[in-house]
Amino acid sequence: MNIAIASYGQETSSFSPVPTTLDTFKLYGLFAGDEILQKCRDIGSIGGFLQTMDAQLDWTPVPIIHGWAGASGALTKETLAYFAEALEKGLRDAGPLDAMYFALHGAAVADGVHDTEAYLLRIVRGLIGNDIPLVISLDHHANLTDAIVDHADALVAHRTQPHDQFETGELAAQLLLGIVRDKTRPTTAWRKIPLITHQEQFLTAHGPMKQWFDLARDIESRPGVLSASTLPMQPWLDVPQGGWAAAVVTDNDPELADKLVQELGDEAWALRESFCRLDSITPEAAIQRAVDADKGLVILSDTGDSIWGGATGDSNVLLAEMIRQQVPHRALITLVDPEAVEAAMAAGVGGTLTTMVGGKLDPNFGTPTQVTAKVAAIGGGRVDVSLLGFESYDLGSAALLEIGEIRLVVSENRGIGGNHPSVYEHFGLDVADARMLVVKTASNWQFYQPWIDQVIRVDTPGATTSHLEDLPWQHLPRPIYPLDSDATM
Ligand SMILES: [Zn+2]
Repeated sequence: MNIAIASYGQETSSFSPVPTTLDTFKLYGLFAGDEILQKCRDIGSIGGFLQTMDAQLDWTPVPIIHGWAGASGALTKETLAYFAEALEKGLRDAGPLDAMYFALHGAAVADGVHDTEAYLLRIVRGLIGNDIPLVISLDHHANLTDAIVDHADALVAHRTQPHDQFETGELAAQLLLGIVRDKTRPTTAWRKIPLITHQEQFLTAHGPMKQWFDLARDIESRPGVLSASTLPMQPWLDVPQGGWAAAVVTDNDPELADKLVQELGDEAWALRESFCRLDSITPEAAIQRAVDADKGLVILSDTGDSIWGGATGDSNVLLAEMIRQQVPHRALITLVDPEAVEAAMAAGVGGTLTTMVGGKLDPNFGTPTQVTAKVAAIGGGRVDVSLLGFESYDLGSAALLEIGEIRLVVSENRGIGGNHPSVYEHFGLDVADARMLVVKTASNWQFYQPWIDQVIRVDTPGATTSHLEDLPWQHLPRPIYPLDSDATM
């Protein structure tokens, strides 16, 4: 049995000025053909899919294209065209197929194309025809649309945040095995929910998101249900069909699917006020609380500058506040700033420099701040570490700067912000020595779990601000809760 495999993932922040290009995809992983099988066997949704299929079916994978680009501004036209051509060529050359799996993020915009997943799925369907089963998986922060649902035979989204990519690939494989081996006949019902909320209640381990996702798991346990997906769309996507959604796939029971998806939608709507609760505090209060902490590691979540939400990773708001309060304990922070790296290289290791850092990449939200620092080390390049579906990231040139107790990593590329200890270990720093550490994410500090004593969400400006009402929305359907008080289900 020949089954085509492809993946295409990017999360677009409509408010980020940084375009996503093929180079962005190359930073995280852009593979074609057999390279996909070699590089992805143990990671991401493709890994979960491959391993599950290998264990359960005598099959031949037909790898087409794999691209993952993290989160940033919209794709350029050429970048989307590259994926369209790769799919066209790959599927034309593939020979007869029995099925296809397409792993998608589901919230990627390109210059002039609001729904790039639907655009690519249309191409795929045009080539493989309507009779070949096509199963897709999505990030649960996807923006589900008519066109995405229409082109797929069945879909499944991540079940947890932090993201469970590998498990999602396993679930997609089970859906596909159901069709090709067990003769299930998936039917999908879905509904849009007029909600767009900030990310502060997005973790699925507690609070309203847990309650909503738990209901989906309960629904999945009922007879005849193949999958139930809850999709709280990432909150910086300004597109005409934007907003949360739910989808239920049953085995040839459209009425049941419809009834259950109504239940999921109603639950989200009933919880809408708790999804909007803000936990973040001011930078001044946050740094003060971290200074006062007497043990363990304090994670400071720079909510406005979440690189996995599409922000630039060069906000200096927390750095400036640390300097202002002259933090007396070891503090770790990163900034994307190619000019500062260059200045550090010019000063040389052991040298001192006074320069403007950060606040340069996103003129809507930042201004540079002046620091005087000692250059402790020069480094950078590609760092091998397996996380979130890729097996390395690229810092570009980078330098470690010392400002009192602050250890600032400035890098040419955004890499992964400071969201994984490897960024600091690369420079010989031990996270165990730090009292506070800034992550450029609002959810994914799990890599610091062994050291964490407390997590503080900080209300910082940036493209991933929690204050959605302040963003210049143009395309989002209105009314939508909580931006409009007259929104209704
Ligand atoms: Zn996501």
